[in-house]
Amino acid sequence: MRKNIVAGNWKMNLTYEQGVSLFSEIVNMAKDEVVGEQEVVVCSPAIHLSSIAKLSSGVKNVHIGAQNIHEAEAGAFTGEISGAQVKSVGAEYVILGHSERRAIFKETDALLAEKTNAALKNGLAPIFCIGETKEERESGRFFDVIKTQLEGGLFHLSESEFKRVVLAYEPVWAIGTGLTASPEQAQEVHAFIRKTVAEKYGEQVADDTTILYGGSCNPSNAQNLFSQEDIDGGLIGGASLKSRDFLDIVKVFN
Ligand code: PEP
Repeated sequence: MRKNIVAGNWKMNLTYEQGVSLFSEIVNMAKDEVVGEQEVVVCSPAIHLSSIAKLSSGVKNVHIGAQNIHEAEAGAFTGEISGAQVKSVGAEYVILGHSERRAIFKETDALLAEKTNAALKNGLAPIFCIGETKEERESGRFFDVIKTQLEGGLFHLSESEFKRVVLAYEPVWAIGTGLTASPEQAQEVHAFIRKTVAEKYGEQVADDTTILYGGSCNPSNAQNLFSQEDIDGGLIGGASLKSRDFLDIVKVFN
């Protein structure tokens, strides 16, 4: 049985105090309001991780993650942060392949494959993002783009490694734009992703893989998106910065 997950991506927002305060609200609300088995994951900037890990310790179904790691174990990489470091403060997840990292920081599928290896080696579950640009959607090439991202970033993994990966379909044209993929558009791609995973790792692995939707997801559209057969939760940007909105999205699975 695959897990339902709602993960927040705070991006480069919130001072230390603001982040700790938002996370405290999320934890307190989750304790009272989240009655199902869904997982709540907050991917904060690295500076918050060690403090919010302490706040989430022992709280059922609330987990934390980073937004990036370097592919190397350690060494002379000024300004970078490693999988081992992220793991050492209590994080369990790391977002990899976010479209902002791909576009702004020029992260390629080959680099993301290395980062995925580093995450898994250090006991972090990658939340691996894939998705097409507006131009790729309009030209009808989006299935090819998604298949290439899966093959280049993940399909070198063994079956047991792949089983630890969470996928996130995030159409780039929907991220931070207020334009959400319709539930039907999202479902079509999620079903394609599951089929592509099945071709590589078999039906059972595909069936057990959690595939999140991300892109302007909010409390008003989450229900319709998450009720689609192959959508197992969301990766939430803007709406994860407001505790009430984020928890309302999480509670779709109650
Ligand atoms: C994201 O950045 O992963 C994201 C989904 O952002 P937003 O929800 O703001 O579109």
